[in-house]
Amino acid sequence: MNQHRTEKIVIVGGGLAGASAACVLGREGHSALLLERDREPRNKVCGEFLSVEAQTYLAGLGIDLDDLGASRISRLGLYHRGMQAEAKLPFLARGLSRKVLDEALLQKAILHGARIMRGVSVRSVTTEETASWIDAGSFGGIQAETLFLASGKHGVRGIKRPASGSINDLIGFKMHYRLSAEQRTSLDGAIEVILFEDGYAGLQLIEDGIANLCLVVAQERFERAGKSWDSLVEQITGECHILADRLEDALAAFDKPLSIFQVPYGFVHQPETTGPQGLFRLGDQMGVIPSFTGEGMSMALHSGYLAARIFLRHGRTSSQYHRKMASDIQRQVQLAFLLNKAARFGPGQAALFHLCRTWPSLMRQVATFTRIREGSMQGALALV
Ligand SMILES: Cc1cc2nc3c(=O)[nH]c(=O)nc-3n(C[C@H](O)[C@H](O)[C@H](O)COP(=O)(O)OP(=O)(O)OC[C@H]3O[C@@H](n4cnc5c(N)ncnc54)[C@H](O)[C@@H]3O)c2cc1C
Repeated sequence: MNQHRTEKIVIVGGGLAGASAACVLGREGHSALLLERDREPRNKVCGEFLSVEAQTYLAGLGIDLDDLGASRISRLGLYHRGMQAEAKLPFLARGLSRKVLDEALLQKAILHGARIMRGVSVRSVTTEETASWIDAGSFGGIQAETLFLASGKHGVRGIKRPASGSINDLIGFKMHYRLSAEQRTSLDGAIEVILFEDGYAGLQLIEDGIANLCLVVAQERFERAGKSWDSLVEQITGECHILADRLEDALAAFDKPLSIFQVPYGFVHQPETTGPQGLFRLGDQMGVIPSFTGEGMSMALHSGYLAARIFLRHGRTSSQYHRKMASDIQRQVQLAFLLNKAARFGPGQAALFHLCRTWPSLMRQVATFTRIREGSMQGALALV
């Protein structure tokens, strides 16, 4: 790379992980350059369920979920083959579209002094002892003293992740719907989780009374549905009459669903003992927790806070950050990974459903065990 600019801190990716790190760094007087592939705010595949930890981090960054119109969610309905179990959530959750949330956080990052370049897709990164070299296409080459990699589920050439040990034959889909007033009232205050053959779906309200249907399905099942979203939804609503009621005559907000393939559920970056420092992996680049937990966003925010905090205290010691982050999320990701495996297939689903129906408190326990620990959060929040 002959022509290049030099930067102290570059963040690749303007999702929750990248934007939160930019906010924390900006507050402490470090103006990071953040490169985001998308030119405009866009919808992303996500259940859009905000756990209490995610809410705490967002509030710490000045995000007012009421102002943004987030829905309130206090109970969980679990459905399996026409049967139903219900439990109160151990906290008040919120629902908000990623299009609105991610943009609000990016605007906060700008307020705190981050320089956001949109429409810049990083093509590759080469890491050396003292710096990372970033090929940002037509934006040019950048030599970054410190790099925060927050590009989400998929890697960037040069610093790919090993996917071994993770489940990656699943597809995530998302569609927004406009419901009737009656359907909205029935769904109000609930996250409804439907276990169906080879997958699960979550339905909840977000802002403006819109419902988000997000589902995770085995690739093979999608193929059996003729690789057609309409057929897949028809089959699932056939298995679950509650979902059929909710979606009857509902208006889809997009022409086709958003989708994401080969999500590496269960992946946790293993901290390096040697090698170059100055490359911090954030959010889904650090670890990917199965979606049913609704904890991916809080982990992304936790990583953004923690990486920025460790950088501010100890400089480019990324191995220290990776060790701390791995110890904060490893147990939660492993438990969720095992449950995800069990919940994929009929017998496992039936067993889990009956356990949850017999002991509704089990649903609350699972929600508790897959969350970031209070102590870890307080540590990450301490600086800001
Ligand atoms: C089906 C599904 C449902 C989910 N449901 C929930 C839920 O209900 N609740 C919850 O808490 N979590 C949920 N998650 C998890 C959550 O969505 C993620 O954990 C979270 O988005 C991770 O944030 P991130 O910032 O790491 O990545 P992202 O939010 O993916 O952000 C990455 C950003 O990087 C940009 N980017 C990517 N590559 C480049 C590049 N080369 N150059 C420049 N920019 C780039 C992208 O455009 C994007 O804006 C779900 C995930 C899936 C798959």
